Amino acid sequence: MLELRPGCECCDRDLPPDSAEARICTFECTFCADCVKNVLHDTCPNCGGNFAARPIRPAGKLGKFTPSQKRVFNPDLLKSTQ
Ligand SMILES: [Zn+2]
Ligand SMILES: [Zn+2]
Repeated sequence: MLELRPGCECCDRDLPPDSAEARICTFECTFCADCVKNVLHDTCPNCGGNFAARPIRPAGKLGKFTPSQKRVFNPDLLKSTQ
């Protein structure tokens, strides 16, 4: 099951479980669509893999399958890619 991390690792934008903007790599490094396109250029800075759109978890399943509360944020990512 996906962790559904709550925010973008690059810009710390909120990415709720129903966000269409969330992108993940195979290790579930989580970023927003803007960062993937404009900052990361479709390559995960942590593992070198590519990204796919994160599937939306239906609201009715969120109670039993709780999304991760663990926010991952690397402010250095923005700097290192510019
Ligand atoms: Zn972002
Ligand atoms: Zn990754």
